Amino acid sequence: MSTRELALVGEVCEWTGIGMGSDGKFRVDSSALKSGYKCTTAATLRYIWGLVSKSERANLLAGTALHKAIETHLKGMGATSLDESLRAFDTIYLEWASQNVAADDKLSWQNTRLITQKWLEAHPNNEGVVAGFPFTISQVDHVEVGFEIPLTTAEDGTEILLLGRLDVLGDYQGGYVVVDHKSTGFINQQWFDQWPMDCSIDAYVWAARQLLDRPVLGAFINGVQFSKLPSDGTRKCKDHGTKYSECGPMHAKWELAGLYERNEAMLAGWKADADQMAQGLYKIYSLVGNDIDSYLDQLQQEGKFTGECRWCEYKKAVCEIGRRAGVARAQLEFAPWNPLEH
Ligand code: SF4
Ligand SMILES: [Zn+2]
Repeated sequence: MSTRELALVGEVCEWTGIGMGSDGKFRVDSSALKSGYKCTTAATLRYIWGLVSKSERANLLAGTALHKAIETHLKGMGATSLDESLRAFDTIYLEWASQNVAADDKLSWQNTRLITQKWLEAHPNNEGVVAGFPFTISQVDHVEVGFEIPLTTAEDGTEILLLGRLDVLGDYQGGYVVVDHKSTGFINQQWFDQWPMDCSIDAYVWAARQLLDRPVLGAFINGVQFSKLPSDGTRKCKDHGTKYSECGPMHAKWELAGLYERNEAMLAGWKADADQMAQGLYKIYSLVGNDIDSYLDQLQQEGKFTGECRWCEYKKAVCEIGRRAGVARAQLEFAPWNPLEH
């Protein structure tokens, strides 16, 4: 194994995202908790060792670029130009995607940027009144609100914080709603069906209720579909009556899903489960540290029993071949998860 790779994994302890902070407090976010309930091996690779598959990295970075563009657009309160918002997109994604994603891929820079542009054009922002949003944005600092809230305490007394970011805190019917932007391959019925019971909604609503003095009514999901826009220069589109090469951008798709509400009993249930998993992740962190060589093949593989492996980014590079640390390091990228970026 190369020392450089080991050092990369070692850096996880020093940074300020998920994991142990230099202040001695342990940080988790909603996606780490969710992953912990799916599979210990996956959660440890992603959130403790900071390793990610290359295809997942493209998804994450494209999503981060979309967030940045929407953030710039919404924070501008109407004064930000389309070019400026798209520049924010390019800053995150242009260089990386040009080198790592094929031009005809749905996650290519050209395709995802065009979809982002169409979203921005369809949501003009008039001083916080945004077309297509049933809520308004009353102040600039209600866009991209980072938070760190004490969640629970580990057995050894270590404080565990819940870290995250509210993409938008919207004013809605005398209270607030939380809004989360999500890029996704397909917006279909299955995509909608995942949200009513999704733990990220509980986490956002719980966090917002800790932070705010007005009622937090629930959450909306702002879904943007990153699928390949049609571009065929000969075939004609039934919907638009032109060649696909002309109407392609008109096929960009997004949906605002919600409102998803949470009552106190639901949040109490989530909190109990979140506390338990947060302590579980801390325990694993305390045990494995950055020693991927000793522990990778010792971790539980709940995914095998729950069907999670089917969707898992670590299936091919790690688990199908018997979880060898050297192969995992060579196949995966080191890109520690920072919830403030997604
Ligand atoms: S492939 Fe299955 S066992 Fe391996 S990390 Fe993913 S979910 Fe867990
Ligand atoms: Zn068309």
